[in-house]
Amino acid sequence: MESRSILADAHGRQIHKLRVQLTDACNFRCFYCMPLTPRFLPSAALLSSTELLAICSALAGYGIDEIRVSGGEPTLSKDFEAIIEGLSGLPLRKLGLTTNGFLLEGKLDFLKQTRCQHINLSLDSLQAQRFHEITRTKNFKKVYKAVLQAKAKGFQVKVNVVVLRGINDDEIMDFVRFSADHDVEVRFLELMKIGCSNQNHSLNFVPAREIIKRIEESEILLPQSVNRDSTSFNFTTTSGARVGFIASESQAFCSFCSRLRLTATGQLRACIMSEAGVNLRGVPREEYQGILKTVLKMKPLSRLDHIEQPMYQIGG
Ligand code: SAM
Ligand code: SF4
Repeated sequence: MESRSILADAHGRQIHKLRVQLTDACNFRCFYCMPLTPRFLPSAALLSSTELLAICSALAGYGIDEIRVSGGEPTLSKDFEAIIEGLSGLPLRKLGLTTNGFLLEGKLDFLKQTRCQHINLSLDSLQAQRFHEITRTKNFKKVYKAVLQAKAKGFQVKVNVVVLRGINDDEIMDFVRFSADHDVEVRFLELMKIGCSNQNHSLNFVPAREIIKRIEESEILLPQSVNRDSTSFNFTTTSGARVGFIASESQAFCSFCSRLRLTATGQLRACIMSEAGVNLRGVPREEYQGILKTVLKMKPLSRLDHIEQPMYQIGG
């Protein structure tokens, strides 16, 4: 019991979610996330699947009951299947994956056999040429198809769209229609001041309230109830779309945050906006309790302004 209650911090935040970065590597080059020629970590710097699973298992013993794997691009991990299988064996309420979708088609049958049934796909444009400009790859068709395939196979699918002024903000209603047509939840993300996106942030940034206003010009938004620690606020629309808004910049949710992060190198972090953390690689389980207390004290109560480290290195 003691081990379960330790994950409440001094401000009453009950920590029960963990974002796990499997790798910093990625096969896309989204301009707001990584440079064209990034330097990825050598594989020796990354946790092995055994190390990663041991850490996640220990953290599950302290009350983590929701894990989402991310990256970089998590499906590029050579241990992707072993990790998902291992995580599926933990006593979790929810296991999810955030992916760019490029390799997803070949993994869906495997994933269907696991407890990982929640898949968030990043799709910043419904126009091929524009998608190619944002991701600096030529994979629109493949990703678009992966969204529909995941849906057809019965996964809980969400599409993540980072809304970028002058780049894809004229597609907001196209995404609303996409949601209604395919019964897929679309989440509009505010661009965060992280790494590459610090440059030109004020030019590219679109606040969630503006996105909502634009949708309300042609639809009525009906609020949906969400958990207190939800990062998004959600609506259905009169046309049957399901939309969510992640207003990390304009309406930060720090005071309800229930998440820790584990980087691919084994660092346990308290906040996406801070490089502070403690490395758990090789740390015996007896030391976890003290480390968790230390990490929880690192959790800011209000929003830190920006972070220089790029998103793909943090684990989005
Ligand atoms: N590669 C996978 C993907 O793209 O889904 C997982 C990692 S990616 C870093 C996770 C999510 O973070 C993606 O939806 C991406 O669009 C989002 N993201 C990256 N940089 C961001 C930023 N500066 N502000 C808001 N979202 C960002
Ligand atoms: Fe890769 Fe995801 Fe970053 Fe795009 S957002 S470069 S797909 S890690």
